Amino acid sequence: MLMARIRGLVILIVSTMDSHLQQQTVPEPEPPRLDYTPAVAARTAALYERVRSVIPLMEWPVHAPYVDAIRRLKAERGAVVLAHNYQTPEIFHGVADLCGDSLALARQAAETDAEVIVVCGVHFMAETAKILSPGRTVLIPDLEAGCSLASSVTAADVALLRERHPGAPVVTYVNTSAEVKAASDICCTSSNAVEVVESLGAERVIFLPDEYLGRYVAGRTGVEVVLWQGHCEVHERFSAEDLRGYRASYPGVQIYAHPECPPDVLAEADYVGSTAGLLRHVDAVRPERVVLVTECSMSDNVAVAHPEVEFIRPCNLCPHMKRITLPKILASLEHMRHEVTVDAAVAAGARRAVARMLEVGRGAGG
Ligand code: SF4
Repeated sequence: MLMARIRGLVILIVSTMDSHLQQQTVPEPEPPRLDYTPAVAARTAALYERVRSVIPLMEWPVHAPYVDAIRRLKAERGAVVLAHNYQTPEIFHGVADLCGDSLALARQAAETDAEVIVVCGVHFMAETAKILSPGRTVLIPDLEAGCSLASSVTAADVALLRERHPGAPVVTYVNTSAEVKAASDICCTSSNAVEVVESLGAERVIFLPDEYLGRYVAGRTGVEVVLWQGHCEVHERFSAEDLRGYRASYPGVQIYAHPECPPDVLAEADYVGSTAGLLRHVDAVRPERVVLVTECSMSDNVAVAHPEVEFIRPCNLCPHMKRITLPKILASLEHMRHEVTVDAAVAAGARRAVARMLEVGRGAGG
């Protein structure tokens, strides 16, 4: 372990731990192939009209039979389907009942009376849904849908940090496992991280696990921030040079970036905001031309509601989000797999950290 002081921040450099996820090793049966029949075409025609700007006509016969089957089966099961903004358009617009970022999805799902919650997102998001809806059945279509940020830190790491920095409260981004949330004092989202850190009134806080979001927070508060070297493998791939290239290639383009990007990328951006913040900013400004410096499906999904905006779409895909597919969602509903459970004591601890965040204020972004 190496500790260094850089520009007033305490930087803690710790090798990351193996994923907390228990990976599924038993091969699953292939989902059945479904045909694009005239009846399916008729039932999905109106839906296709909504999404034709982002799903080519030649692809629709592949998606439509699954969209049709999932829509019918979720009604039979009394299920609600959640889709994160980074899901592909055929999922986001085709089968989801609730769309958005991770915490907002879990909170909205808790307000429904659905018996079954299918999470089209990654594992920590399904855990968050379970934490906020402990009495429901929460399913994830692919158990291996993990996250480089969530897997970078464990509850044991949190305990170690507390030993090293006695008295410093632990602020944990919601992109973490239930165990890490439970080991924390308070959670935050990328929308409210600054507000949450300031609310603690502490001179020093431990901020986990996203180093770049932590640096962003440190730059906007007078608080000394102990950072962890967790990164989102999608956002860390962007560079300031990429952004200068977008400006050169697309005159007048507005650049909106997510705070999980490296600091030099954020310095080049016209606006920095959470997933929800990026959406709100597009809604408010309606730029002629914009690039959203985030996972590339988000632009496809936002573009459906904003045909007047030209979205430049550099494609950095999240491989974990992209493990979720229509055939897997259908199989999840048919076989009620894979159920996500959270130990009751861990869930109670995680709920406490989330509830404390919600008391601070704006808690819906992610
Ligand atoms: S986009 Fe980044 S933070 Fe989101 S699930 Fe993928 S790796 Fe994790």
